[in-house]
Amino acid sequence: MSNLVVMKFGGTSVEDATAINRTAGIVRGRHAKGLTPIVVVSAMARVTDQLLTAANAAGRGDRAGALAITARLRNRHLETAGALVSQQTICELTNWIDSEFDALDEVLRGLAAVGELTPRISDMVVSAGERLSSRMIAAAFAHRNLDAIYVDARQCIVTDAQHGKAIPQDALIEQRLRHYVLPHASAGRICVMGGFIGATEKGVTTTLGRGGSDFTAALVGGGLDAGSIEIWTDVNGIMTTDPRICPNALRVKTISFEEAAELAYFGAKVLHPATILPAVKKNIPVLVLNSRNPENEGTRIISLAPHCRSPFKSIAVKRRLTIIDVVASRMLMSHGYLKAIFDVFDKHKCPVDMVSTSEVSVSLTVDSNDKLPDVAADLSQLADVKYEGRKALICMVGENIRGQNGIAARVFQAIRHVNVRMISQGASEINMSFMIEEDDAEEAIRSLHNEFFGDPDPEIFDVEALRDVEALKESVR
Ligand code: ADP
Ligand code: ASP
Ligand code: MG
Repeated sequence: MSNLVVMKFGGTSVEDATAINRTAGIVRGRHAKGLTPIVVVSAMARVTDQLLTAANAAGRGDRAGALAITARLRNRHLETAGALVSQQTICELTNWIDSEFDALDEVLRGLAAVGELTPRISDMVVSAGERLSSRMIAAAFAHRNLDAIYVDARQCIVTDAQHGKAIPQDALIEQRLRHYVLPHASAGRICVMGGFIGATEKGVTTTLGRGGSDFTAALVGGGLDAGSIEIWTDVNGIMTTDPRICPNALRVKTISFEEAAELAYFGAKVLHPATILPAVKKNIPVLVLNSRNPENEGTRIISLAPHCRSPFKSIAVKRRLTIIDVVASRMLMSHGYLKAIFDVFDKHKCPVDMVSTSEVSVSLTVDSNDKLPDVAADLSQLADVKYEGRKALICMVGENIRGQNGIAARVFQAIRHVNVRMISQGASEINMSFMIEEDDAEEAIRSLHNEFFGDPDPEIFDVEALRDVEALKESVR
C-alpha cells in the first residue's frame, strides 16, 4: 500500500499559531511512522467568510467597509506569522503577506470604483485565504525542522471556468500532481498546499465551492493513489448528529462511503459532499479526525460498513430551503408536464433536493437563493406557483433501513408534534428524509436522536465516550 497520506486541516485546525503548532505536531507524528504526508490546508477559521463580505462590500461601492475588513485580516495574518517563525525568517514572510494584502486592497479599490463584482473577481479575492494560510503553514513547518515545501494548489487543481463552484478536471489534475507533487513526496518531503482553490488551464484562479478543501484532499488522494485521506477537524469524527445541536451525539466508528456521501449531501458540514467520490473510485479509506484530540481514533469511511444493530447511523439537517408548489389542473395527465417543469430548473441551473407529485401538483425543494423569482416567473407560464422559504430537510441515514419494518412509524411518532410537509425515502434506500419548518429542526433532531440512539450498538458507536461522560457526572455529584 502507498505510504502517502493526504492530511487535510480545516479552518479551526489552523485558526491561530497555537492550532498551527498542534497541526505541525500531528504531521510530525505521521512522518515519524514512515508515512509521507501531503498536507492540504483551509484558510484560517472565518477568513473565507470575511473575504466574501469584503468582496461584496466593494462590489456595492463600499470601499471603506471592504478595506476595514482586509486591514483586520492583514493584522491577524501578520500576528500569526510573527508567532510562528523566528526573527531571521520573519521578514521574508511578512513582506510577502504585506504584498499579498496590498494587491488584494488594490483589487477591492478597483471593484468599489466599478461597483460590480463578477464571479471571477470574487474567486480571486476569496482564494487569498488559502493562498495565505498554505504559505504561512509551509514556512512554520520548515521552521520546526519538518522537511516541508510549499506547492501552489493552482498549479495542480485544474478546473473548468465555473467560478465559485468549478468542476475539477481529473485527468489533468493527476498529470499535474505527478509533475508538481510526486517528485517531492517520493523524496520524503512534506508538500503543503491550499485546499478549495484551483485554476483553469489558462491559469485563471477558481474555487471549488464552500467547504471545498475536503474536495481538494480527495482529489489529491485519488490522483496520487494515496494510502489514506485524513480529514482533520474540530470534532471527534462523524457523529450521530451535529454535536452543536445535540451535545450527547456519539462518534460513529465506521461508516460506508455511501452513507457518508448521503449525510454530506444532506447537510452534515463535517464533510464536503464531493469528497467521497475520488476516494470511492480508488477505494481509498477516508478518516475524519479531531486535531484537538488527535489520540481519538475518529471515523473510518470504507466501502462496506459492518452490520449495525440500529437502523440509522446519523441524522443530518439542511436548512435555508424553499418549497415550491406547482399546481396545474389544465396540464392534468398531459405528457411532458414534468419535463417542462424540470426544464425550468435546468435553465436556471437550480438543483432540486426533493420532489413529490400528485395528479395535478408537484412540490419541489431547492436551496433558497436569488434565482427563485426568475424560476417562479418561468414556472407560472405553465401552472400556478407558490413558494415558501425557511424550511429544513431532516435526513436520517443508515444502510439498515433496507428491509426493516416499522421504521417510518417510529420516526413520525418521535416527531408527532411537528408539522411534516414532504416525505421521501431515497431511491438508494439508505436515507429517509422529510421537510419541516426551520424553527422546528433542532427540537425534531433531539427527539429523533433520543428515539434511535438511546441503546447504541457498541460495534459502530463510541459508547465508551458516553460511559466516560456518565462517570464524570457521577463523580461530580
Ligand atoms: P472544518 O473547518 O474542519 O472543515 P467544519 O466546520 O466545516 O470544519 O465541519 C465541522 C463541523 O461540522 C463540526 O464542528 C460540527 O458542528 C458540524 N457537523 C454537522 N454535522 C455533523 C456530524 N454528523 N458529525 C460531526 N460534525 C458535524
Ligand atoms: N475556506 C473554504 C471555506 O470556508 C474552504 C474550506 O474551508 O473547506 O469554505
Ligand atoms: Mg469543512
